[in-house]
Amino acid sequence: MRKPTTNPDNVQMSDVLCDFCHREWTHDLPVIEGHERSIVCGPCLTIAYRLVMLGKSGNAPEGYKCVMCLEKRPDQAWQSPAYPEACICKRCINQAAATLSKDKDYGWQKPTAE
Ligand SMILES: [Zn+2]
Ligand SMILES: [Zn+2]
Repeated sequence: MRKPTTNPDNVQMSDVLCDFCHREWTHDLPVIEGHERSIVCGPCLTIAYRLVMLGKSGNAPEGYKCVMCLEKRPDQAWQSPAYPEACICKRCINQAAATLSKDKDYGWQKPTAE
């Protein structure tokens, strides 16, 4: 998501916020963009991946809409505890994790079972 004050002709990194924790995008914060400028950051993706991919669980209510793909999905999903309107579906978690883990600059890795 972007701050409401964002100038669309001059978007700054600090205008870009994670939809799930509202953290500002910085050079050492990995982010993945979804549809309609939705954003998930690396730390949120780690939590989502742990719950949904490793834990095979989910905390999103039935009928949730994923903010990354904008679809109502039947699969399990993670709902942000801080911003309940933000849910990410299993498919998007998987795709985002695959993309982010290939980006060597960030050094983000898929979490493994503890
Ligand atoms: Zn986040
Ligand atoms: Zn999705």
